[in-house]
Amino acid sequence: MERMIASLVMALVLIGAGFCFAGDKEESKMNDRIKIWSVEAGGFVETTRIEKSDAEWKAELPPEVYRITRGHGTEMACSGAHWKNDGEGIYRCVACGTDLFVSKTKYSSGTGWPSFFEPVNEANIGTRRDMSLGMVRSEVHCERCGGHLGHVFNDGPKPTGDRYCINSLSLDFVEMDLDEQ
Ligand code: FE
Repeated sequence: MERMIASLVMALVLIGAGFCFAGDKEESKMNDRIKIWSVEAGGFVETTRIEKSDAEWKAELPPEVYRITRGHGTEMACSGAHWKNDGEGIYRCVACGTDLFVSKTKYSSGTGWPSFFEPVNEANIGTRRDMSLGMVRSEVHCERCGGHLGHVFNDGPKPTGDRYCINSLSLDFVEMDLDEQ
C-alpha cells in the first residue's frame, strides 16, 4: 500500500513538472530576447526574436518576397534591385529590418546576385546546412526572423574569403553616410 501511495505521489510530481516545463517553454518563446548588432547604434542592441506563422508571413509579405524569404526560393540572376547597386548604406532584412550587410563589404562577384564578404556581425546571421539540389551548401538566414537570405560560399575575396550570395528580394537598402556611424 505504501508503495502504491509512493508511486502515486511520484506520478503526480512528474505530471506537475511536465506542466511547469510546458509553461516555461511557452514563456521562453514569448520572451525570446536576442542581441543583434546595430550599425547606427555602433553596438549590440537587445530585441525580441520574431516568430510568426506561415499564414501571417504570407499575408504580410509581397508574394515574391514570401517565396524567397519563407519558401527558401532564389530570384533569377541579374533580376534583383541590388546586385548592381554601389550606393553607400545599410542592407537590412526586408521582413524585420535587422541590419545585415553594409555597402563597404559588397563587391562585384559577377554572379548577378548581391555579394558581400561579411555580414555586419555574425550575431545577425544564422547558417544551416542545405542539402537541396544535390549540393551541400550553407544556407544563410536572418537570425531575428528566420527569413531566408541566400547562401555563403568560401570563394570570396580577402579579408574573409567568404561570399555571401544574397537575394535582392530579401534585402532593403537604406542609403546612409557610413562615415558618420
Ligand atoms: Fe529578419
